[in-house]
Amino acid sequence: MLAQKIMLEAGALAAYGAGWKFAGAGPGRSPESAAAAGGMQRLWSAHQMGTCRMGRDPATSVANPWGEVHSTPGLWIGDASAFPSASGTNPMATIMALARRTAHAVASA
Ligand SMILES: Cc1cc2nc3c(=O)[nH]c(=O)nc-3n(C[C@H](O)[C@H](O)[C@H](O)COP(=O)(O)OP(=O)(O)OC[C@H]3O[C@@H](n4cnc5c(N)ncnc54)[C@H](O)[C@@H]3O)c2cc1C
Repeated sequence: MLAQKIMLEAGALAAYGAGWKFAGAGPGRSPESAAAAGGMQRLWSAHQMGTCRMGRDPATSVANPWGEVHSTPGLWIGDASAFPSASGTNPMATIMALARRTAHAVASA
């Protein structure tokens, strides 16, 4: 919140951080006054996943179950975007395991 306070008081029209966007601010404004004016918006995402999901069916997935893109042989997806769906919990260890699995699949392709 301190960084946003500094940015807003320096004249920023909007400041992002700590899960919030403060908009409609300007010189002399603070996160609190932006919030009071209705310019406070929850803006938070830390666990993006599943945007290039793996699956057997090209109609519902980007990559096959080993991470190779259906339409582009030789192109592999090995990060959280290959998750078939959101894990619902912290994904880092699963991402590391998936990357290792995908690396083995690439090596033996
Ligand atoms: C604040 C915060 C706290 C978190 N805490 C936890 C936690 O405690 N435990 C946990 O399990 N998870 C946590 N996560 C989530 C975890 O960090 C992510 O889910 C994970 O890092 C995603 O891994 P990834 O490899 O899919 O993507 P990323 O780690 O985002 O890697 C993507 C990489 O691709 C690169 N890139 C992007 N575009 C291009 C391009 N066009 N060309 C080349 N490179 C490109 C980026 O620079 C980046 O290095 C947290 C996330 C945040 C933001």
